[in-house]
Amino acid sequence: MTVPDRALPPQAPRPVRDDLEAEVVQLTSDLIRIDTSNPPGNETPAAELVAGYLGAAGIETELAGPDPDRLNLIARIRGSGEGPSIMLMGHTDVVPAPTENWTVNPFDAVLRDGHLVGRGAVDMKDELAARAVAMAAFARSGARPKGDIVLVAESDEERNVSDVGMSWLVRERPELKSDFALNESGGSLLELADGGRAVTVSVGEKLVTSLRIRVHGRAGHASVPDRDKNTLRAASTVVERLFACEVPVIVSDSVRRSLDALGAPDGSDAERLDWMGRQHPGLADLVPAMTTTSITPTGLEAGEPANVIPPFADVICDCRALPGSTEDDIRAQIAAAIGPERASGAEIEYEVEFLEPLAGGVESPPDTELYAILERYVEERVPGAILLPLVTPGFTDSHWVRQAFGTVAYGFAPVLATDLDVYLDSMHGADERIRTDDLVTMAEFHLFALNALVGA
Ligand SMILES: [Zn+2]
Repeated sequence: MTVPDRALPPQAPRPVRDDLEAEVVQLTSDLIRIDTSNPPGNETPAAELVAGYLGAAGIETELAGPDPDRLNLIARIRGSGEGPSIMLMGHTDVVPAPTENWTVNPFDAVLRDGHLVGRGAVDMKDELAARAVAMAAFARSGARPKGDIVLVAESDEERNVSDVGMSWLVRERPELKSDFALNESGGSLLELADGGRAVTVSVGEKLVTSLRIRVHGRAGHASVPDRDKNTLRAASTVVERLFACEVPVIVSDSVRRSLDALGAPDGSDAERLDWMGRQHPGLADLVPAMTTTSITPTGLEAGEPANVIPPFADVICDCRALPGSTEDDIRAQIAAAIGPERASGAEIEYEVEFLEPLAGGVESPPDTELYAILERYVEERVPGAILLPLVTPGFTDSHWVRQAFGTVAYGFAPVLATDLDVYLDSMHGADERIRTDDLVTMAEFHLFALNALVGA
C-alpha cells in the first residue's frame, strides 16, 4: 500500500504559476482517473470532461466523431482574423496498463514525491490538460485572439486503426485547418556532454509501414529433405541478412539543422554524427534513427504440419523510413541486403508486399513565427539552453494535420524538472509519472505561446 505524499517541490513564487498549478494538476488527475485504455478506448468521458472544463471558461465546445463511445472534442476561441490560427492537440486514449509492475493503481492518479503517477501522466493527458488550462486562462483574460485558438482532444491515437480520431477529423472537418499546431513528442531538456543544454522540438516524423517478405523454397516431404532449398533455412538467411547489412546513412537538411543547432564541429558527416551521438545517450539512439531507414523483422510465419516442408515462409517486418522515401527506396534497401527481388533461380527467391501504405514522414519547416516563439521561450526560461530540432522515429497525430492541411506542427511541451530517464522509461511503462511542477511549466509555456502568437 502506498501512502500518497502531497508535498510539492519548491517553486519560484510566481503568481501565474500559482494560478495555473491547482487547475492543471486537478485536470490531469481527473483525466487519468478516466480509463481510456486503447483498446477499446472509450474516450468520450475524457472528451466530455475537458469540454465541461473549457465550457466553464466560456469557450465553445463540440463533441464529434463517428463512434458515440469514442468522440473527439473540438473547442474554439474565435479570433479576429488578423493573425494566424493555432491548434492545440492532445489524444485522450492511453496504452493499456498491465498492473503487475505498478506500485499504485494506474488509474488512481496518485501524488507521490512531487510526481503525479498514473497511466497517461506522460503520454499524454499531462499535455492535453496543460493546453486546456492555458486556453481557459487565455479565454478568462477576455482578450480576443488575433487568430482562432482550437483545441482538439482526439481519440484513437495509440492504435490508429479505427478511423475515429484525427484521420476522421481531418477528412470530415476541413474547418479544423489551422496555420500552426502544438502536439506531443518534444520539450525534453538534455544536459549535453560538452556542458551545453538543449530542449528538443519535434519537427517531423519518420514514415511508418509494415511489409511481408515472402521467401520461396522447395516444398516436399520432410522425410526426404533438400537441405539447400529448404524454405525455413532461406527465411532465416533473410532475417540474418536484414540484421547484418550496412544500411545507407542519409544526412538530410533537417539532420544538418540539428547538427548546426547543437554546434557540431566542422568535419565529415560521419564525424559530426558521431559527435552528436556522444553528446547525450538519447541522441546516441536518435542519430541512427534520424539517418537510416529501419527494416526490422518482427514475425515469422510458415506452414504446418511438421512433416511438410512448406513452399514459402513469410518474414514480417516493421519499417520506419526516412521522410521522403518511396516504396522503391525500401525495396532497394531490401535487395541490397538479401539480393534481387523476384529473381527465379537466385540464391534467395522472394518478393516484397507492403501490408499498409506508407504513412507519415512529413516535416514542418523551422523558419516560422511559432518556431521563433519556441526559441524565445527556451532562451528566456531555460538558462543556457538551445532549441534542438529533431525528426523523431515515433508516430503522432501531427502527421495528419501536416499532410491534410499543410499545418506547421511541432511536438513541444517542456519537461524541465522530471528526470528524463523516468519520464521516457515510464511512458507506456509502469509507474508512469511526471513532476507536478512540469505540469505547471507546460501550462505556463502554452499561455506564453498563445500570448506571443495570437495575443493582443
Ligand atoms: Zn502519445
